[in-house]
Amino acid sequence: MTPLPLRVAPHPNEAWHGYLARTAAQYDATVARLADHIRLRRDGRWPGYHGVLLDAQTASATAEELNLEATEVLQMQLASLDQSAFDLTGLDIPQRHQMAATQRVTNQGWVFLAGGRYCATCLRTDGVWRLEWRIPWITTCTLHGCWLEHRCPRCEGVIGRYNGLNATAPSRAATRIGSRFCDLPFGHGTCGADLAEGDMRPCPPEATESTRNFRTTIGSQVGVVAGKQQSSLKTLQAWQAAIGISISLGRSRTTTALRNHRWTSPPRDALEVHQLVMDVAPFVKAESVDQAADELLEWCRTAGIPSPHRDTFARATRPASALTPVTTTALARVGRVHIRLARQRVHDQQTLPLLPWAPDDVPQLAWPCTLPPKWRTSTRPDQLILRAVLAMLLVRMHSGATWADSGATLGIPPDKARNWTRYCFSARFHHLKDDLINAAQSTADVLPHQPTRAAWHRRPDVTDDFGTCSLKQAQAPRCRNDDPTATWCPCTSESRP
Ligand SMILES: [Zn+2]
Ligand SMILES: [Zn+2]
Ligand SMILES: [Zn+2]
Repeated sequence: MTPLPLRVAPHPNEAWHGYLARTAAQYDATVARLADHIRLRRDGRWPGYHGVLLDAQTASATAEELNLEATEVLQMQLASLDQSAFDLTGLDIPQRHQMAATQRVTNQGWVFLAGGRYCATCLRTDGVWRLEWRIPWITTCTLHGCWLEHRCPRCEGVIGRYNGLNATAPSRAATRIGSRFCDLPFGHGTCGADLAEGDMRPCPPEATESTRNFRTTIGSQVGVVAGKQQSSLKTLQAWQAAIGISISLGRSRTTTALRNHRWTSPPRDALEVHQLVMDVAPFVKAESVDQAADELLEWCRTAGIPSPHRDTFARATRPASALTPVTTTALARVGRVHIRLARQRVHDQQTLPLLPWAPDDVPQLAWPCTLPPKWRTSTRPDQLILRAVLAMLLVRMHSGATWADSGATLGIPPDKARNWTRYCFSARFHHLKDDLINAAQSTADVLPHQPTRAAWHRRPDVTDDFGTCSLKQAQAPRCRNDDPTATWCPCTSESRP
């Protein structure tokens, strides 16, 4: 196969499908014929995720045919923005898992795997489809001060999205049409509407500003969330999570689909994305974690939630690590036990990469001598329950999981985990909450000194029997002062500080 005689130079920010359409038009060929000629399409099949990613081998073979460098071809794929504008990890797994891979990548953050937006004036000027028009956060054309459009004015299809399955390969690219025309299927042929003739809707300066900011974040791979520098990916994830929280608290209105499904794809409509961004800007762009937490609590109060808990935020949206210090700070102010622990955990993670112990170093019932002195003879709450709660506190310190999940780690049924902790932390037991938290913290310090690591990993399930009967079979190490044959206990640990 001979390389094409001419070279169509790609625009610095050009998208692959537009480039192919422009090149095909130069040769008065259809995109499909060009794709066959350069062996991009083989036996009528387009490569999977056409225009999103291309394997190195196809890229260099195609580049040779087009008189381009392989890097130029790769630059035009959406994947060239991987890890800066979105996370495409897992997309390059075999074809038959395409649906699963698409689902997974969509869950990893806002991305348009198929279709995008466009500026009619840009298309009229040079017919070049910009790669950044496929980034959900880019809502305007900064050159022409207008909103980007996403629908064809004639067939009303989402441009570049060839069917409902988010297909990226042109379904009917058999027509000779230039890059500025709509190539969506329409009737028995191709729509062919001239997109450059579409209306231009001017946008307000703050929308252009917002596009510029997102462009800078993505280009430099660095952004700022609540006054702290983050990678661009984490920054965008924080924006997305903030939007999720705002929607769940009823502050932001949006399409039904988005409201009902927290993992959903981003709105196509540029104005809608911009509105969502504006709604959450005071939160994400707050100058400090404390200010962002103020804003978040204000949102909660307005929504009629005076004391939010972790699930208020965790269930609303996919988690974003850049927002964790903010939600933790906000929750700490409303003063729940698990929040104080989570705060402690965030603090520990900032100083230590990993705690020097793991949940498997915690028995189902903590050692009797770990209980706060004045509770060591208590019968209400029962000793066994106090020891189980202390064990759950330790697991929770480590994982930050809910009481139910922390209990589950120890083999304790969720309703027991919830009831026992609620019981022990209730106001009727004065200071018990603080005493237990302090006890958990000092026990955590000595856990790593056990002679055997992960000594407690074989845990029997705590049964569903009534009250403490269910704890009969539980792991219950003794204090060496009570039983000198015990292998180890915290109060006689030699390394105890
Ligand atoms: Zn433009
Ligand atoms: Zn159309
Ligand atoms: Zn002891």
